[in-house]
Amino acid sequence: MSMVDIGAIQDAHSRIKEHINSTPFVGSPTLSAICGAPIILKSEHLQTTGSFKIRGATNAILSLSEAERARGVIAVSTGNHGRALAHTARAVGSKATICMSRLVPENKVSEIRRLGADVRIIGNSQDEAQEEVERLVLDKGRILLPPFDHSDIIAGQGTIGIEIVEAIPDVATVLIPVSGGGLAAGIAAAVKTFRPHARVIGVSMERGAAMKASLDAGQPVLVEELRTLADALGGGIGLDNKLTFSMCQTLLDDFVLLSESEIAAGIRHAYDKEREILEGSGVVGIAALLAGKVAGLHGPTAVVLTGRNIDMELHRRIICGMNNSLEGEK
Ligand SMILES: *Cc1c(COP(=O)(O)O)cnc(C)c1O
Repeated sequence: MSMVDIGAIQDAHSRIKEHINSTPFVGSPTLSAICGAPIILKSEHLQTTGSFKIRGATNAILSLSEAERARGVIAVSTGNHGRALAHTARAVGSKATICMSRLVPENKVSEIRRLGADVRIIGNSQDEAQEEVERLVLDKGRILLPPFDHSDIIAGQGTIGIEIVEAIPDVATVLIPVSGGGLAAGIAAAVKTFRPHARVIGVSMERGAAMKASLDAGQPVLVEELRTLADALGGGIGLDNKLTFSMCQTLLDDFVLLSESEIAAGIRHAYDKEREILEGSGVVGIAALLAGKVAGLHGPTAVVLTGRNIDMELHRRIICGMNNSLEGEK
């Protein structure tokens, strides 16, 4: 089985260190009191592009040759990977093409355009947008840097795991939002190298969790992509998944799924108690704790906050309790 190993993650860390923010670890007194264990928030939503995705994108683009950068990079995205690629491509004088489905929120699309990327909106799912990516790779020779199933992307996201074990040497549990599983695979690979007994738990939404469905089936499966507050966690893992499925299968100890109202409660808690603006996908670790869905909490628990690129009108509605929930919607 192929895995991204700690050597690749350490190399990624030295490669990207000076290009990314070293984001703070912040203890949460409120969550610690609720959970009866020390809860520490890893604030990856404070990266320049508003999500951790800049780690993988930076590692992947800096690993390309000059000739490859000149051909331009391309990917499908739910928004945050595209924004990170657009940002980093522009910084090194390359060019990004980002293909997205109509489910991607407009605030994310417009940021990617603002960063100078060639933006293409195709179809109603990641899988449809992926077909356009494959066409442009063949026709135009663009370099494919997919959002999760790529060793340089996984190694880049895994650098968060190195920072977690450095900051919290006795870490007992790590909560990680999961979509395609690049983030969880990378962090778990790093954390388990140094703390083999630490538990690594994935968190997704009930509405369209492709990795959870695939783990349950024992192989990558298709799930219907549905509208959710955790929009960055939507989309499939690829039926021909090469790395993240087997890594998550081997390295994740548990998996939690959340309802839309539980995710909304997480967004409200982050704002009211932690004084932070988080997008739905970014806050599912907190939401899982609030929902009482993480059993056996004892030692220090790291919660990775992954993104803050929420539409602010939607955020206001959720904070005011006015969000017309997607619960029950099909
Ligand atoms: C991409 C993303 C995730 C999930 O990352 P995967 O590597 O696809 O599992 C979680 N949160 C946010 C905010 C994201 O943008």
